[in-house]
Amino acid sequence: MRIVLLGAPGSGKGTQAQRLTSFYNIPQISTGDLLRAEVSAGTVAGLQAKQAMDAGNLVSNAIMLDMIRGRLQEKDTQNGFILDGYPRNISQAHSLDDLLAEIDKPVQASLLIDVEFDILLKRIAGRLSCKSCNAVYNQYYSPPQTADTCDNCGSSDIFQRADDNEETIRHRLTVYQQSTAPLVEFYTEKGILKRINGIGDMEDITNAIKAELENLPA
Ligand code: AMP
Repeated sequence: MRIVLLGAPGSGKGTQAQRLTSFYNIPQISTGDLLRAEVSAGTVAGLQAKQAMDAGNLVSNAIMLDMIRGRLQEKDTQNGFILDGYPRNISQAHSLDDLLAEIDKPVQASLLIDVEFDILLKRIAGRLSCKSCNAVYNQYYSPPQTADTCDNCGSSDIFQRADDNEETIRHRLTVYQQSTAPLVEFYTEKGILKRINGIGDMEDITNAIKAELENLPA
């Protein structure tokens, strides 16, 4: 199953990707997580990406293409993948199509997780992540059961991302509107866009996604 997840920052697409990963047993490929790992490791790509990330801008298409090409060559993607955060603009969507055409395995569905602007702001401003296992929490809606301790792996390294402050969030939402939202039309024209209401119970949203993913064309 080869899926692209679309949704603004805070739409819950990362959380849904994690849930789908365990259900379908295919990897979640989060370009944000890959980039943060490069930044922590201090690699050349990480150093180049950091400034754009901290400002809420997109990292260059060239860096992203190298990263995604390498990741899609890894063995665990043979039965499919859930792309979370790539493509982020029309040029990346064309690059992805070209990459997947080489192996004759096109994107089968693009899922848009739809959430209105005001809710997005509050969701992102309260977002917390676990540094060890990437579990995601929200200090307003879904905090860890014990403050500062990850429910999933027990780590006390729960942190707020550097780019999750209000000014940067507003900017990231603008970047989403300008660069990423046009992908909705791109995938609609291909006939593979599935729109999911991203407000409500997490489990219900996962079930709505699973229903959309039944009977995908090969
Ligand atoms: P995310 O965790 O998906 O919100 O991504 C965090 C940041 O990483 C974004 O604000 C961008 O700066 C960068 N990023 C992630 N994916 C991409 C991409 N496909 N293209 C360009 N920049 C990206």
